[in-house]
Amino acid sequence: MKKISKDEIATFGENTRLVIGGREPSEYHGFVNPPVYHGSTVLAPTTKDLINHTPRYSYGRRGNPTSDALEEALKTLDGSAGVVLCPSGLSAVSTALLSCLSAGDHLLMVDSTYQPTRQFCDKVLGRFGIETTYYDPLIGAGIETLIRPNTKAVYLEAPGSQSFEMQDVPAIAEVAHRHGATVLLDNTWATPLFFDAFGHGVDLSIQAGTKYIVGHSDAMFGVVSASRKAWPALKSFHGDSGQCVAPDDIYLAMRGLRTMGVRLRQHQESALRVAKWLAKRPEVHRVLHPALEGDPGHAIWKRDFKGSSGLFSIVLQPAPMEAIGAFLDDLKFFGLGYSWGGYESLALPFDCKTYRSATSWDPGGPCVRIHVGLEDVADLIGDLDAGLARFRAARG
Ligand SMILES: *Cc1c(COP(=O)(O)O)cnc(C)c1O
Repeated sequence: MKKISKDEIATFGENTRLVIGGREPSEYHGFVNPPVYHGSTVLAPTTKDLINHTPRYSYGRRGNPTSDALEEALKTLDGSAGVVLCPSGLSAVSTALLSCLSAGDHLLMVDSTYQPTRQFCDKVLGRFGIETTYYDPLIGAGIETLIRPNTKAVYLEAPGSQSFEMQDVPAIAEVAHRHGATVLLDNTWATPLFFDAFGHGVDLSIQAGTKYIVGHSDAMFGVVSASRKAWPALKSFHGDSGQCVAPDDIYLAMRGLRTMGVRLRQHQESALRVAKWLAKRPEVHRVLHPALEGDPGHAIWKRDFKGSSGLFSIVLQPAPMEAIGAFLDDLKFFGLGYSWGGYESLALPFDCKTYRSATSWDPGGPCVRIHVGLEDVADLIGDLDAGLARFRAARG
């Protein structure tokens, strides 16, 4: 096989980049995949090499050929200046925030963010003298009114966790940059395949790799990618805070990444079919899915995004908790559990009311988040159909 330069790889389509990024079979005896290096100590040939750090690798925490391969593959995919690997999605969130904030700084955080991100801001950043103000996800350029002289970062997540509000990323990024603030985005839902974060003004793009990168519900993983401007601070904080990912988990993330393109296209297609079917059901008050026409976020989604993934929510007609249990407890294919992004379908009842502060959450009925996996759509719809019949009966 001919060796391909990194510059040339950047010109190929995204599925080609997913397949070839970070792989050099000639360096590992022709085997297709990079080997998994387990190791802490790295032996140097001489005292001089040891002291001067001349060898390529110096210590397990600082990287090895396995982590290098995944970093290169991820960089190839999103065109960032650099990426850091973190042991979970939430550690990627905290790493990105701590790389650009210091005591006395002010952070603007979207009200619809992933709830543990919110807890990190309230419980940890607050303790270090960093103040967080939550803002309405629909604020757009109006965010300017919330900017203070010490606002150093603006954090976005689109669509919002559980409630799926879309954000005008370029409008918010433009204001933030004009005031010298770093723009962070949680891009877990769309991945770089469906949303080009850097092309829309983001400086630090976060993914809970646990979801679509790993894709098989068998490992925890996170990644932060940086623009050229944000990269030095991210790289330095990541190294100084001692974060590293175990080599077997890096391998699982890399294995998942290779097929992320086909998986996401199928998640997209199946989720749209299930969502459209649900939208016609009398038991369903609303479907929250930005790729559906009529969704309040549809215009922004259509303008900025290249696709939609397998996660969306439904608002049911008002019903007691027992009716939600009757719907969900006996589903055959939708497991009840946290997280998402694996090959299997999931369902999760939720209520954002208790933790929103800049906006109020009143969707008009009980809510269920649905992750559509890779099962046959006809089977999934049959399962939901039977579940909604149980819901109707229990509602009386
Ligand atoms: C799951 C999730 C995270 C956190 O990822 P973990 O790997 O579970 O720590 C962060 N952001 C979003 C949007 C998520 O869905």
